[in-house]
Amino acid sequence: MKPFRLPRWSLTSCCGHSWGRRPAPAAAPGAAGTPSRREFLRTAAAGVAGLAAAGTLPAPAAGQVRVFPPPPPAVSPIEGLIDFHTHCAPDVFGRSIDDDESAQGYMARKAEAVVLKNHVTSTGDRAWLLRKRNPGIKAFGGVVLNGPAGGINPEAVQWSWRMQGGLGRVVWFPTFDADNHVKHFKDAPEGIKVVGPDGKVLPAVREVLKVCAQQKLVVCTGHASPDQALALIEAARDAGCDRIVVTHAEFEVVNMNVDQMKRAAAMGAKMEICAMGPLMGPQAHLPWMRHWRQVTYKESADHIKAVGAQHFLLSTDLGQTGNPAQWDGYAMLVSGLMGQGITREQVVTMGREVPGKLLMG
Ligand SMILES: [Zn+2]
Ligand SMILES: [Zn+2]
Repeated sequence: MKPFRLPRWSLTSCCGHSWGRRPAPAAAPGAAGTPSRREFLRTAAAGVAGLAAAGTLPAPAAGQVRVFPPPPPAVSPIEGLIDFHTHCAPDVFGRSIDDDESAQGYMARKAEAVVLKNHVTSTGDRAWLLRKRNPGIKAFGGVVLNGPAGGINPEAVQWSWRMQGGLGRVVWFPTFDADNHVKHFKDAPEGIKVVGPDGKVLPAVREVLKVCAQQKLVVCTGHASPDQALALIEAARDAGCDRIVVTHAEFEVVNMNVDQMKRAAAMGAKMEICAMGPLMGPQAHLPWMRHWRQVTYKESADHIKAVGAQHFLLSTDLGQTGNPAQWDGYAMLVSGLMGQGITREQVVTMGREVPGKLLMG
């Protein structure tokens, strides 16, 4: 088949990382986006103030000036949970840990499973190796239908699920090569399309969905716009798919509103909430994350309350150099949501039951 070619002005990644992009104004004082010492100190102070505001710092006793972090939790806050979206080395983008290190960190905290995602290569084989070397945690992989996979390519999906072990369970529609993504970030004149001018999904998309339905794969909408995602969900349902996820539904490039989330939920799709959301925005500690809007815990909690926890799943989308380890990010997400009134039971629904059913049901 004809390989997909994307003429680019710059290389931007999914979930942030970019090259050749002008630093955001917030990054200006430091060379090449590096925060100055003064900025760093200001950020660190803000972090401590944030903790104090959240009531997590003990009030100092009279005459006592030393303040320590809390003791280790008696029970892992992410015990039994599944991270549906991790990025690990080896990769074409900077990653802080590899597949094995991620698995070991998660195992030590008694997590149930991880999904390995890579924008340019399939990961079902990596999940097989991860399980072999790390018995005690489940791993899954899949394929992202970006340019390297040939775009909307049913063959890439066929060979992904056929990989030894049958762990290529997830199919993501295009991410950083998506037409919506490259136009949103002005990376290229056009990218890989999932819908035609009439708003209906393209025939190749239906071919992909047919394979997903036959093999019970999890269909993820990638970096499609809300309208495109809704068209994908409708077509997936028509094709017989019963496992559909709106990839980081609250992030910059997708950014579904409550009404759109309700429509997606009514068609059986699950909305993904990621630990990286609150870390992004103009205040982000890494320059590439300043181009993506911040998703606050309150916003996510409001979405869960408005639409229903059974329509969401939790993940991190972490693993990038300079970001918290995935398990720490996941713990931050759980405590952040619970701080906004989400119950432990709802966390288990979104972090374990929903993704567990998608991957293993
Ligand atoms: Zn993404
Ligand atoms: Zn990602």
